[in-house]
Amino acid sequence: MRAFLEAIRSGASGDDLANLPLPESYRAALVKADEQAMFDGLDSADKDPRRSLHVEEVAVPELAPDEAHIAVMASSINFNTVWTSIFEPLPTFGFLKRLGKESVWGARHDLPYHVVGSDAAGVVLRVGSAVRNWRPGDKVVVHCNYVDDQDPSSHDDSMLAANQRIWGFETNFGGLADLAVVKANQLMPKPAHLSWEESAVNALCNSTSYRMLVSRNGAQMKQGDVVLVWGATGGIGGYACQYVLNGGGIPVGVVSSPDKARLLNDLGVEAVIDRKAAGYRFWADEHTQDEGEWRRLGKDIRSLVGEDPNIVFEHPGRSTMGASVFVCARGGTIVTCAATSGYQIEYDNRHLWMKLKTIKSSHFANYKEAWEANRLVAKGKIQPLLSATYELADAGEAAFQVHRNLHEGKIGVLCLEDREGQGIDDPEFRATVGEDRITSFRRHGA
Ligand code: NDP
Repeated sequence: MRAFLEAIRSGASGDDLANLPLPESYRAALVKADEQAMFDGLDSADKDPRRSLHVEEVAVPELAPDEAHIAVMASSINFNTVWTSIFEPLPTFGFLKRLGKESVWGARHDLPYHVVGSDAAGVVLRVGSAVRNWRPGDKVVVHCNYVDDQDPSSHDDSMLAANQRIWGFETNFGGLADLAVVKANQLMPKPAHLSWEESAVNALCNSTSYRMLVSRNGAQMKQGDVVLVWGATGGIGGYACQYVLNGGGIPVGVVSSPDKARLLNDLGVEAVIDRKAAGYRFWADEHTQDEGEWRRLGKDIRSLVGEDPNIVFEHPGRSTMGASVFVCARGGTIVTCAATSGYQIEYDNRHLWMKLKTIKSSHFANYKEAWEANRLVAKGKIQPLLSATYELADAGEAAFQVHRNLHEGKIGVLCLEDREGQGIDDPEFRATVGEDRITSFRRHGA
């Protein structure tokens, strides 16, 4: 793969890249099937991705006609890699087995190791015979919606496809590696003004937040809406705040430290709640929620913006859902895509139906939504949330940081490229967007 790196750095043409031989193996971050019981009996918090994520050489898979091999210059850590590496809520090998039964090409994925990672920025090296719109040499980012376009159920909103999957989580050959196998319909143009690692951190979280807030499939935020954003300096929360600000809404960001509160102010969010300082105890004990605490949060929101939130951007799950349903305005929407703190959630249904609120579920994004979200990054309207960069060899440590909530925004991972700040093709446009805006999370984390 080193030859590809040197060729890419020296600006080699697509034909030159196509003529370089692919190696037999490549470096990849993976978990192993024979280790999936290694954390049995431990609490989630004690399951350590540094023990389960290995970086090893694996065989380069053959390419299906609708796929591309890409050289992954950089990738990022998403929470799904944390789930895979702590084998929760289920080991992901079951997903690979199921995919393995679907077709000859699916069978490639059913291996005793799982190469993880659901983001990538890189360069196309090879395309299968059925690929029309991409060729070797194209600089790309990868979104993680993996759909079978021969399935009729994938042709309205592809997130409703019967066998929709998340690449690098429910499939093998993910992005935390020097090389990845992706379907051609996962590819999007790399934003020319960003480095490899700045480009690599956006697709998964940015597209998710776009669907949740902007798309007709989500909460359809409108100008003036008050939006409560949990985890507002986290991956999806940080993009959500940008969408609220860009769309003329009024964000109320919840974070857990004064430092994060300052970062949020820098992003342009004025109304900020520090949940740690406020000391909310929505759960009085393991089984009982405290409506008084929900009410206290509601008062805090009103004291900041004078109104209840029209939209609650929800993902912590069990710890916050009761409060989210309570504080949401009459007729408002709680849009949820996750349950980091527990998926058996509880809320008081009277507060939902009597005030005609809606709980809207959302999951990643279809190709069109991901494309629109990427277009906004490329146009400098949405900024990457890169706060730190790790090397692929340290993928376990990077996942540990996210698991323990020690990070802000997004953690980038250098893969084939081993130097930061490479891959910027349009420095003039970068200067127009503004170095400070592009690197605000990075400077804060430094
Ligand atoms: P991050 O870890 O980057 O951010 C999550 C933020 O949530 C943290 O920064 C933290 O902020 C806040 N948080 C964590 N626990 C709690 C809690 N108990 N109560 C209140 N706030 C909490 O993760 P992401 O933003 O990348 O992802 C968030 C969740 O969304 C994950 O579960 C992930 O798997 C899921 N996800 C789902 C997607 C989908 O397509 N369905 C796509 C992307 C993510 P602070 O401590 O500052 O309050």
